[in-house]
Amino acid sequence: MAISVIEPLRHRCVGCGASCHGRTVQLEPGEEEIRIRGAALALGVLDPIEGRALRQEEGRCVFLTDNRRCSIETRFGPDAKPASCRQFPLVATRVGGEVRVGMDPVCSHDIVGSLQGDRVTAGSVQVRPAPGGPGWEDQELWLSEVLCTPGQTVTGALQEALRVDPDALQGIWRRMVRSLHRSGVAADPRLPTPVMQALAPLWGWQGEGPGRPWLPFAESYALQAADRLVQLRLIGSVRTPSALVILSLMGAWGAWQVTDDVEGFGRTYAAWIRALRDEGFTHRWLPTGEDVAWLLGGASGPRVPSAVD
Ligand code: SF4
Repeated sequence: MAISVIEPLRHRCVGCGASCHGRTVQLEPGEEEIRIRGAALALGVLDPIEGRALRQEEGRCVFLTDNRRCSIETRFGPDAKPASCRQFPLVATRVGGEVRVGMDPVCSHDIVGSLQGDRVTAGSVQVRPAPGGPGWEDQELWLSEVLCTPGQTVTGALQEALRVDPDALQGIWRRMVRSLHRSGVAADPRLPTPVMQALAPLWGWQGEGPGRPWLPFAESYALQAADRLVQLRLIGSVRTPSALVILSLMGAWGAWQVTDDVEGFGRTYAAWIRALRDEGFTHRWLPTGEDVAWLLGGASGPRVPSAVD
């Protein structure tokens, strides 16, 4: 089977614990489940498994300590953790006869890790089947071309993906913020606390003014992270690769406006990607394809998303 590596394949874990909040950690039945139950017993953690996944308490893994350390790793070493935690944020996606390997930009520190992190070796990574739909391969080829064109900008990629002029982007942003507030997802958070904290400034920005000019590094990161989302098919609950690119880049654009530095931007952008991946968030905000069309095109006039009709 052909293996394609989607660069950059770099990561550095800073132990922030964000990935241990609100992430479903599925366990392999058999040896892995038995090992985790054994670790829980030794650590005094009750009922560590719910269904086939690690149990969460108040939105975080039961093995995460108050000082944001994984108690399994602290006591037994990194190899004792569940496979999906060991490999996070490395993902391998099977698309047809090909396995695509790369780093999921959902990690809060991916922006720094992708530049300064250690080279990651794939090892025995779990391969996930790719979600797919009619025309996806053509869409992702085209989107990758748009995102990876030398000299590309976030505004330019959005214009090409949306086929609109630059002035329309602020209108889309304003519709986005309005519908986020009206759908209630901004005021009634169900996302993990670190994600909501990172997103809080974004909810307040109304898209005023000409916008803050991009730093080239932050802008090229936003584009390559969107390309990784597409190529690795980290589509979450968004419906199509092009909607994923548009929504993720709109979030990147907003995140750049409301954060002071590159790291803060990376955290907010990663949190936005995480929110888009959350079924509860996206389905409450944009429950139907028409809502997405309204948001992006404004084609149906003053209508508001059906969640708030
Ligand atoms: S097992 Fe450890 S690394 Fe995995 S989610 Fe729980 S605390 Fe985090």
